[in-house]
Amino acid sequence: MTTIFAKIVAGELPADIVYQDDLVTAFRDINASAPTHILIVPNHVIPTVNDISEEDEMVLGRMLHVAKKLAAQEGIAEKGFRLIVNCNEWGGQTVYHLHMHLLGGKPMGPMLSS
Ligand code: AMP
Repeated sequence: MTTIFAKIVAGELPADIVYQDDLVTAFRDINASAPTHILIVPNHVIPTVNDISEEDEMVLGRMLHVAKKLAAQEGIAEKGFRLIVNCNEWGGQTVYHLHMHLLGGKPMGPMLSS
């Protein structure tokens, strides 16, 4: 299975990549919802949270660790930030390649808008 994010990971689609290692890639969201809006994705396709398996535990931990490092790098760690992972239609997921949104640079407001 391929996804637009898999193409970004492979360098086949342009993106503003801010971090990449053997397990994860992070790039700026094309439609930013906050001054800092970065997507952190596993390099291999896991479609949704429902598809996570035990073998994915390492990459999932790496995603959180990279989020922490990028938040510091972006200067948003001290004030605070939000991490979001949407799952399937009701969760608001639009790209079926698991990803973590790192959002910050302004107050994020209430967790849900409605
Ligand atoms: P979600 O709704 O949680 O599936 O989030 C998908 C996110 O991917 C949205 O915030 C989109 O703006 C973002 N997005 C879609 N295509 C691209 C792309 N080519 N480069 C960067 N971000 C993208």
